[in-house]
Amino acid sequence: MAANTITLTAPQPDIAVLTLDMPDKGANVLSQSVLEEFASHLDALEQRDDLAGLIIRSDKPGIFIAGADLREFVASIEEGVRPEETVQMCKKGQNLFRRLSKCPFVTVAAIDGVCVGGGAELALWCDRRLMSDSPKAQFGFPEVKLGLFPGWGGTARTPRIVGLSNAVELIAGGESIGGKAALAMGLADDVVPSDRLDQAAIAMVREQQRSLEYKKDRERWSRPLDMTETELYFLAATGNAYIQQQTKGHYPAPLAALEIMLEAASGDIDAACELEAQGMAKQFGSAINRALLNVFFLSDRNKKDRGVDRAGLKPGKIKSLGVFGAGIMGSAIGAVAVKRKLPVAITDVSPELLEKGVKNLLEEVSYNKLIKGPDVQRTLELAPLVNGTASISEIAGCDLIIEAVVENIDVKKQIYADVEPLISPETILASNTSTIPIGDLAADLEHPERFCGIHFFNPVRRMPLVEVIRGPKTSDETVITAVAFAKSIGKSPIVVNDGPGFLVNRILLPYMNEALELLLDGAGIGEIEQAAKAFGMPMGPLTLFDVVGLDTAFFAGSVLYQAFPDRCIANPLILQMVKQKRLGQKTGSGFFKYQGAKNRGIPDPEFDKLLQPLLRQRREATVEQITYRLFLPMLLEASRVLEDGIVRDVRDVDLGLIYGIGFPPFKGGLLFWADTVGAKQILQWLQPLEPLGERMKPTKMLLELAASGGKFYG
Ligand code: NAD
Repeated sequence: MAANTITLTAPQPDIAVLTLDMPDKGANVLSQSVLEEFASHLDALEQRDDLAGLIIRSDKPGIFIAGADLREFVASIEEGVRPEETVQMCKKGQNLFRRLSKCPFVTVAAIDGVCVGGGAELALWCDRRLMSDSPKAQFGFPEVKLGLFPGWGGTARTPRIVGLSNAVELIAGGESIGGKAALAMGLADDVVPSDRLDQAAIAMVREQQRSLEYKKDRERWSRPLDMTETELYFLAATGNAYIQQQTKGHYPAPLAALEIMLEAASGDIDAACELEAQGMAKQFGSAINRALLNVFFLSDRNKKDRGVDRAGLKPGKIKSLGVFGAGIMGSAIGAVAVKRKLPVAITDVSPELLEKGVKNLLEEVSYNKLIKGPDVQRTLELAPLVNGTASISEIAGCDLIIEAVVENIDVKKQIYADVEPLISPETILASNTSTIPIGDLAADLEHPERFCGIHFFNPVRRMPLVEVIRGPKTSDETVITAVAFAKSIGKSPIVVNDGPGFLVNRILLPYMNEALELLLDGAGIGEIEQAAKAFGMPMGPLTLFDVVGLDTAFFAGSVLYQAFPDRCIANPLILQMVKQKRLGQKTGSGFFKYQGAKNRGIPDPEFDKLLQPLLRQRREATVEQITYRLFLPMLLEASRVLEDGIVRDVRDVDLGLIYGIGFPPFKGGLLFWADTVGAKQILQWLQPLEPLGERMKPTKMLLELAASGGKFYG
């Protein structure tokens, strides 16, 4: 047992303080050994009759307790945890924390940082919660994001302290709240500056010792909730509708949490804890829980990944960004950098487009989503960081230069030829190209080792993914710097090797093309869209065509067609649409028609007229068959990406697709999903599709996995 996470001190003779500081970790987590350590401290403290209060605090900067130890969760799921064992695990935690609400003295949680999951439950079982006013002090239950709900008394205790409606919002919503909101809700009892927290916690103990209010609350919070049948019914109806709308039926945990809290409302705290433990047994280790845990670890791994495997390398410092091209992407990339206080110099071949691009950039910087409009204060602070310039030497003076001009190799190469002689030996030059191989772009460079792809996704503000593309001569130093830069502006970079379509577009296009093939084979637009959405995609593939733009998609498709003529199909439909300028949302019509401010697609009879002459002999397809036809080509391409060594780890494929195209997190990632299904099963699904052509033929890797019973994740 590691016995050194929790330290007991006594700032005053009758005040005990337990301070958590997990050695060699950035955060405190409630592992089994920490819980045991906590239990043994309580064993000793409960025996004392000289104490007025116990204060629980943390010495980790910005963190109180970040929740349970998820690696232990995964280990127990992999060992095949049984439902009755889950119930016991919950009860053990509940019983331990409940002791805080029964101690012969006042218990106070002093929270000066992230207080979530199991940490929030520990704090909730205390008599009082004191929060600091630091923005890092956040209280919440993110369990639903892992397909779970709180299982150490959170669903039992929260409604009794803050009311059922607030508890449902907190627990089923999964979002954390700061001190102010917690105070307003009654979750926190006071909010004070960080440097006064310890002192204020002692004062709170004294005040409770005097007023004995905590004893009344202990009694009150053990009872059933004071709610009428009508109130409960109303909450059930509204909560249900809201959760269904948010989760689209794909995430069962929020609804299960709601049901448990409603059922437990009429019972006492013991009954509520029992219901919670029984309910958790249904969620813990479920397919969705496993998938979401995988996504958690994918993103955790990505946060720690420096982009190169070589040890001892440090990223270069990027203190300024230069951007060529003030179009959609250039101005948006500039804006995310400026928002992180990085000075940006931006240029364009056209003075009018430069002016427009800078205006867009500033609007983007100024927009504050909290106030849903321009933020004057922020604009005043950040606007001086933007330099719209016609001078190439001002761009050349920056530490990192991203080229985001039109997708034309000659134009791009000319820019590099002009700027390279002016830049310092440390400057990194990068392209935001979506399709042109990095090796081709770097062909005439003096220093191809300082060149790479930094590929953002549209809309830049919302899409977390950035592909950092390593050309054949790109150095490790360049890659590590590009990765650190992308992280510094809040993005999640994945390093990929050069190749047609890089990672995400290469895997996405076979899926989108199959949607076109399905259309020509007689499947309805609605059927295709619905099948993709039922699988969990945020939008159907045909809507995605309309969002991306048919011309852009046609161009990207041509690149892949040239690279992989054996399996890519030149679909006549898309060519017709481009010719007729049905380019999607930007022209008001594509597969759908777009009208009004909301830009919502509606069926368009004109499109049907265009489609009719192209239809082939109809092939009947069930929803299941449509689903296989859409997603299996995606999976086959992902396995080819692995065969070609485009990524450093299979997990990069999964995270790339979740962050880049919204692949459903509840499936855990494309390859994780395939592993869950099993390679043999995938082969069976593919068999009837093989007559469609090379694109449906199993890859060598898939065949090997099926033969060996292996998994993509290894
Ligand atoms: P865009 O047409 O909106 O903007 C391109 C800008 O480059 C225009 O303002 C143009 O005037 C300017 N330009 C052309 N030649 C120039 C030169 N010699 N010097 C300076 N500026 C010049 O295009 P975009 O959508 O912003 O795409 C830019 C790049 O980003 C392309 O390589 C594209 O493939 C890539 N990309 C686009 C998207 C997307 O969804 N739009 C997504 C990822 C990557």
